[in-house]
Amino acid sequence: MRRNRTITTALVQTRIRGDRDGGFRALVSQQFDGRALRRELQFSVSPEQLAESGGAAMYCPSCRARRRCDAITFTSLGLEPQRRHGLGGRPEISWSRRVRMCRSCFYHFITAEVSESLILEMGEMLDEKGDDSETAGPGASTVIPFRRGRPR
Ligand SMILES: [Zn+2]
Repeated sequence: MRRNRTITTALVQTRIRGDRDGGFRALVSQQFDGRALRRELQFSVSPEQLAESGGAAMYCPSCRARRRCDAITFTSLGLEPQRRHGLGGRPEISWSRRVRMCRSCFYHFITAEVSESLILEMGEMLDEKGDDSETAGPGASTVIPFRRGRPR
């Protein structure tokens, strides 16, 4: 592995510079939540070691693959702490925002934590709307639909 390289995707550009002690620095440039984000990060392990440990496994929109991602606070990026967000006029739809950073490409992105029932209901609605090709059929859907208009 080269000590110095640049990771470029459609979403992030990260310059990797190897340090003498075996660690490295990553200079990240990207758009984040509507503004330019530039961060210099320093790690005491190799990029390969970082990518293979820690964080939580999830889909990285930049790598377009499942990667290990860290949770980062908005305040560590110099931003206001986030309150719970909602859709106006729809109290049943609200979520918490969380910043994630991919440990492979260093892309920073926001995930939303919602109640599981919302996801299940969304899947049910997609099933109903679907074209019967993959989602319908015996045993395809195990989601119990909620009656509309009732609190959950
Ligand atoms: Zn990534």
